[in-house]
Amino acid sequence: MTLRLALSAVLVLSCATTPPPPTPAPAGVEKFGNAIDWAKAGDEASQALSGYLQVDTFNPPGNETRGAQYLADLLSKDGIVSELVEFAPGRSNLIARLKATGAPTEKPLCLLSHLDVVPAETELWPKETGPLSGAIDGDGFIWGRGALDMKGMGLIETMTLVWLKRANVPLRRDVILLAVGDEEVDNLGMKHLVEKQWDQLDCGVLVNEGGLGIKNLLFEGQTVFAISVAEKGALWIKMKASGEAGHGSTPVPQRAPTRLIRAMQAISGRQPPPQIHASLYELLRRIGEQKGGVTGFIMQRPTLVNWFVTGKLMAKPPTRAGITNTCQVTGFDGKGSAPNVIPSQVTAIIDCRLLPGTTPEMLLAELKELVKDVEGIEFEVSNGDAANESTWEDPFFDALARHAVGTRTDAIAGPVLSPGYTDSLLARPKGARAYGMVPFELSQEELATMHGRNERVSKQNVTKGLEVLFRAVVDVSAVP
Ligand SMILES: [Zn+2]
Repeated sequence: MTLRLALSAVLVLSCATTPPPPTPAPAGVEKFGNAIDWAKAGDEASQALSGYLQVDTFNPPGNETRGAQYLADLLSKDGIVSELVEFAPGRSNLIARLKATGAPTEKPLCLLSHLDVVPAETELWPKETGPLSGAIDGDGFIWGRGALDMKGMGLIETMTLVWLKRANVPLRRDVILLAVGDEEVDNLGMKHLVEKQWDQLDCGVLVNEGGLGIKNLLFEGQTVFAISVAEKGALWIKMKASGEAGHGSTPVPQRAPTRLIRAMQAISGRQPPPQIHASLYELLRRIGEQKGGVTGFIMQRPTLVNWFVTGKLMAKPPTRAGITNTCQVTGFDGKGSAPNVIPSQVTAIIDCRLLPGTTPEMLLAELKELVKDVEGIEFEVSNGDAANESTWEDPFFDALARHAVGTRTDAIAGPVLSPGYTDSLLARPKGARAYGMVPFELSQEELATMHGRNERVSKQNVTKGLEVLFRAVVDVSAVP
């Protein structure tokens, strides 16, 4: 084939995709957002977040009732009644509802967050701005564990409810605030909510954590607001190797540790093929459309993305995790381990994450096949959840994207698949469309503080994030 023929074949194969246009902004509801003094609202929200960060909800043990009570008190100042539902001693979820003004025309919109935060090593944090300080520094940053994950978001969701009430926004659907416990460990709060209360809630659509706005994500000077529409599933397994116990001084083959090493070598040699999820093509298309040029041309065409971009995505662990089924050994267990004792059983703990389309059973079968030549290997599944996803062709998704970007030409919003999992994974099987979007715009440096010893969020982000969320909720909930 001549070069010209080859090139024209590429162009024929690689038409730009033409997706349907996003839902237009509804007319007549922007007045509600326009009437609010956002600078003042942002100051108030930042002060409230400072207080929320001072409430100790480190998980373990959680103590989420304290956090739920803090939000309940905040809501009650504006006459919003909330319910605390205990799922374990000292551990509660919060539910607060603003009812539709007349008969609702759509299922409720839910604002979901988790009350618990991961532990913090206080001694490693700066003294004045510790994990429970809620300190607001001279640069306008609010410090504390949970500022980004995810008390910051929980607080602006709470204030969104408050502002809907204060601004007397007539609602065509119920808007429900849900703040749940134990997201960081076993998702007990969300499981309780889904099992015991979903019938009363019946969220049609919800926003939760998942994505964020990230500056210079792919290109210098461009911010990408990533809205998570899908989450990888998880398969947590124990791979157990058994063999005869013995003395360390006398190596013989077929001992449990030797078998485990062989099985692990087989698993670490797996080469999962790249599978680009539809959301990634769509995100790249949107970024490419704004970027323009040859790079932009390529990014808008899935075939060219497969040819030119996949290799780059496979080369870096964070992007490789987004396009493959991964398995990572996270620990070991040995029965009666001692330097001179060969135990009869040793165990590797493995965390596998699954793309949509691969069930836990499918991946487990793949692992079993890989180790089939090693004797004495058994698998025990401790957790198996398939991935799930929501369409991004949705008015609330569009509203979040529209308000995050506004009129900016240096920012873009699009769908992503999240490699980690959140409570959204439990909501989607119940029929809710779930989107992960914390409307903060962070530098890579700020992003790295999440779960770190310097977690913080700027007042500017709290202010802007509150406005974005309020306007997006109004777009899909208010009677014009
Ligand atoms: Zn979180």
